[in-house]
Amino acid sequence: MTNSETDIHVAGSHASASFTLHGAGVSDGIAIGYAHLVSSARLEVAHYDIAADSVDAEVLRFENAIGHVRGELLQLEASVPASAPAEIGAFLNVHRMILDDASLSQVPRNLIRNRHCNAEWALTQQMDMLVAQFEEIEDAYLRERKNDVVQVVERVLKALLGSAHVPTGPSHEANMIVVAHDLSPADMMLFKQHQFAGFVTDLGGITSHTAIVARSLNIPAIVGLHHARGLVHENELLIVDGRDGVLIVNPDQQVLTEYKLRRDQLDIERQKLKRLRSTPARTIDGESVELHANIELPQDIDDVLESGANGIGLFRSEFLFLNRADLPGEDEQFEAYRLVAQSMQGKPVTIRTLDLGADKSIESSHEAGPNPAMGLRAIRYCLAEPLMFLTQLRAILRASSYGNIRLLIPMLAHAHEIEQTFVAIAQAKASLDEEGVAYDRSIQIGGMVEIPAAALALGVFVRKLDFLSIGTNDLIQYTLAIDRTDDAVSHLYDQLHPAVLHLVAHTIRSANRAGKPVAVCGEMAGDLSVTRLLLGLGLRQFSMHPAQLLAIKQQVLRTNLPDVTSLATRILRAGNVDKTRQLLAKLNA
Ligand code: PEP
Ligand code: MG
Repeated sequence: MTNSETDIHVAGSHASASFTLHGAGVSDGIAIGYAHLVSSARLEVAHYDIAADSVDAEVLRFENAIGHVRGELLQLEASVPASAPAEIGAFLNVHRMILDDASLSQVPRNLIRNRHCNAEWALTQQMDMLVAQFEEIEDAYLRERKNDVVQVVERVLKALLGSAHVPTGPSHEANMIVVAHDLSPADMMLFKQHQFAGFVTDLGGITSHTAIVARSLNIPAIVGLHHARGLVHENELLIVDGRDGVLIVNPDQQVLTEYKLRRDQLDIERQKLKRLRSTPARTIDGESVELHANIELPQDIDDVLESGANGIGLFRSEFLFLNRADLPGEDEQFEAYRLVAQSMQGKPVTIRTLDLGADKSIESSHEAGPNPAMGLRAIRYCLAEPLMFLTQLRAILRASSYGNIRLLIPMLAHAHEIEQTFVAIAQAKASLDEEGVAYDRSIQIGGMVEIPAAALALGVFVRKLDFLSIGTNDLIQYTLAIDRTDDAVSHLYDQLHPAVLHLVAHTIRSANRAGKPVAVCGEMAGDLSVTRLLLGLGLRQFSMHPAQLLAIKQQVLRTNLPDVTSLATRILRAGNVDKTRQLLAKLNA
């Protein structure tokens, strides 16, 4: 962990009361540090006190920023062409009204004067208040106006940025724990540029993409704490136990010492695992197992190489599209894919085509629809946007001549979606042929099995595709009908549910029989508690976050397949969850 020991201490005799909150641990390990409250990464701002003699200057800085944004909005309004839809002008007008309303232009000024907050802090405090008020409104249209408030605040924050005094640097961040009500996957990506010690959020399910990105940051994280953002104060001392999902606020000295010892112990274990980096993953009885890595961006490659992965089993390419106003063009995508392919030096790199929609949306995307997880997401979205899809396919194909790239299609349910995808790929290939551009002519095309319909009607998938990858995160979501991002139903998210296990087992068995490679690339692949079960069900390819890979390898090395196969079959037949858990404990003993 990055905490610097000497800096962490319990506050003196006036320390606030200690208390504990429970949520769902999503990234293992223990972090000890000071609370840093944030609204969202986009609105992440420094919080600091202004000296009494600098208050006037700070108020002026705030007023200048408001004036600057007013000018910006007026200019934008003037530049709207007469032919543009009337809503555009009206929208800018609403933003100007919000900006000039006393609740945004006056109240933060008072906060700076009376409480000596810096301008950004004062502004975001007031924004949180206004957003909470909007959320109470019953009328859906008016309620959505909170987004306009946030957008206006973003503009002012941007204007303040140039004149900001930011007292935090990387060494300070290393002692900070981010406390947020909710964070989007896009927000989480922005945190990749920081070095915080841990994350805790009030909302979120354990396999939400926010949790997945938190896991890829390899720092302890907890979601679903419900009240952390409201109860924790800036700079309070926190312990994040990412394994058990426990947040301890203002721990006493004894608890702090105990957790420091546990953290050090975990560090030692992690260091020891590094010795397995180049050991082949083979069971005791000599069966080889492929351990691949999941990545979100090319910058994750260093962790992949460090982990000794046999390849990349899932490159979630849609993360290249987040946190930006425009779409990445063909050349930009090509460079990203090529970099990954070349870095892996001939090892397989499985690029999943865009899985946009649901909790990962881009500004130009379609309206989310009433139920985004079941809406125009992933391959459905790509087939509805043929130009965008073609651009990505051409970029992937071009990169395929620089390494061992495989194409993976998300969210397939229908045979005609496979056919349509093949047509799109053929079209991309033909356009490259016309231009004389090289690509891997025998590029492998695989499909994700993450909708129960695909697992149940697997024949067509096995026949038409070169390989399969089971996305257990969505497979569980859709089998059990629970939104993976919604912590209100996260207690129902059960990877051991008999229906889930049957779908997973059936997919592995059918693919193995047909001689088609099959992997699991959902979070189950990196979960030590089910490694033996999956091995026993016949799985020989796992893809997970690089941080989990060596622990899974250790479990593979300690497994004798003849011992686990019959128990795995009994688990499958158990049919009730208590019996399943009992047998699983035996399997893992
Ligand atoms: C899955 O659904 O299991 C999967 C790997 O894809 P994602 O988590 O990106 O939806
Ligand atoms: Mg999925």
